[in-house]
Amino acid sequence: MEYRKLPHGGEQISIIGLGNSSLGAAGEAEVEKTVALALESGINFFDMAAGDAVPFPAYGRAVAGCRKQVFYQVHFGADYRSGAYGWTLDIDDIKRSVDWQLTALQTDYIDFGFLHCIDEAADLQTAIAQGTLSYMEDLKRQGVIRHIGLSSHTPAVVHQVLDMGILDMLMFSINPAYDYRHGEYAIGSGDERAALYRRCEAEGVGISVMKAFSGGQLLCAETSPFGQALTEYQCIQYALDRPGVVTVLPGVRNREDVRRILGFLTANEDEKDYSVLGSFTPQEAAGSCVYCNHCQPCPAGLDVGLINKYYDLALAGDALAKSHYANLGTKASACLACGHCDARCPFGVRQTQRMREIAAYFGE
Ligand code: SF4
Ligand code: SF4
Repeated sequence: MEYRKLPHGGEQISIIGLGNSSLGAAGEAEVEKTVALALESGINFFDMAAGDAVPFPAYGRAVAGCRKQVFYQVHFGADYRSGAYGWTLDIDDIKRSVDWQLTALQTDYIDFGFLHCIDEAADLQTAIAQGTLSYMEDLKRQGVIRHIGLSSHTPAVVHQVLDMGILDMLMFSINPAYDYRHGEYAIGSGDERAALYRRCEAEGVGISVMKAFSGGQLLCAETSPFGQALTEYQCIQYALDRPGVVTVLPGVRNREDVRRILGFLTANEDEKDYSVLGSFTPQEAAGSCVYCNHCQPCPAGLDVGLINKYYDLALAGDALAKSHYANLGTKASACLACGHCDARCPFGVRQTQRMREIAAYFGE
């Protein structure tokens, strides 16, 4: 397993976590075995926005001996007391539901307390007015919550919460379909969404990715908005290459799904290469580097994707981007302007020109 460091706190988080939206249908016994397999495989990050109540007690048993090695995202606004999933903004229901979740999980603390599924500005105002956020901040002061998070599909709402300066983690729906304006949750233009990811990275807010496969639509040619299926590994790599992303949370149904997803860790570069997206890039996104590194190898040894990412982050105000760039062994100034990457780039980026611009910006 590979791990990425949470900027606020320093926890090492597995780049692949587990989503629970579909796991409950397998029944408690399979949930417990699935969680055990995930733990054995080094997965340590679990989103508890489950499709129903079934996973909670099974998690409680599976994690009983190793709670300290596990990070839970617990959602304030997801209510499982009836056995089914319910969404609520009512503060009393939220308190009772969180108590229920903690009891079922056999734990007395929450690694990531998430304000759950806030997509509308009006819902955010209600959550604030009802005292949900101040309740979560109180729990954080008491040490019950370690980090505050938000799950949302709406960039404008996320910006509002980022402005409050309380977030350590954002759970956001990221996949090529949504970033290219296809699908129910394709909210905001590609540029707006990319700017949000960069803001999160610049402010040290980690992103945990939901809907990396667009609810499975991207995996099938008939339902893919591109008329061509992508693979799970291409979608995972795409999400991991976005700025700010710490972990991707595929919604698994059983152990078999976990084993297949874990194959990402040993897949070769060709299996993870999502440059086919260049054929579907909308006009507005053409010419923007997506950090895929399909243009490698560079004869001068430049990490083209990373250099571009640091440049974009620096432009977005990320104070650390300049020092990350300074630590690179080979800088943009070493570009030979050979044009190999221009010819290879499926997204129409002209790096010969851009490398000059980047070298001038960073001064090396
Ligand atoms: S220049 Fe093109 S191929 Fe190279 S990393 Fe950027 S988007 Fe990918
Ligand atoms: S143009 Fe520059 S960055 Fe691109 S492959 Fe050639 S040397 Fe590398």
